[in-house]
Amino acid sequence: MSRPNLYRLNSKEVARATEEWLTQRGVSKEQIGQLVMLLQKDYFPELTLEECVVNVEAVLSKREVQNAVLTGIQLDILAEEGKLLPPLQDMIKYDEGLYGCDEVLALSIVNVYGSIGFTNFGYIDKFKPGVLKKLNDKSDGNIHTFLDDIVGAIAAAASSRIAHRKQAEREAVAEGLEQAGEAGE
Ligand SMILES: [Mg+2]
Repeated sequence: MSRPNLYRLNSKEVARATEEWLTQRGVSKEQIGQLVMLLQKDYFPELTLEECVVNVEAVLSKREVQNAVLTGIQLDILAEEGKLLPPLQDMIKYDEGLYGCDEVLALSIVNVYGSIGFTNFGYIDKFKPGVLKKLNDKSDGNIHTFLDDIVGAIAAAASSRIAHRKQAEREAVAEGLEQAGEAGE
């Protein structure tokens, strides 16, 4: 028996929409990758931009991340169109200092790869390098109150992913050397 009104989520559609909306709002994966590079290059000098972008893509493949991206961008767009109810409309439009829900939504992304993401997120939120500077430029009429935190959070989460993976790689190498040493004894 078919139930035509039953809501069915199409995961591919959510992923596609996320990618499309990030592009439409002027953010590329390479730009987020550059933020990752900035956060991690001191720890892993051999890190390439390509590797950073691969990790950004891995973060963006997660549904909880896609949900946050779509929700945040939607609120930014509604604020640009003046469609939110007062006083929320002005709080988001003027990126009011005590609002804070933009950061809280972004934290749902940072959480995906554990607690070291928090440090990276705090750092990037404070200095707003690269594409974050552009998103924070309020002179062009665009509102990115949510998106700037979301992009910073994606970069922070991708950085955590790299840190965890590199640590695992180092441990595997160390273990291999240890075993080789034992075999040679
Ligand atoms: Mg913000």
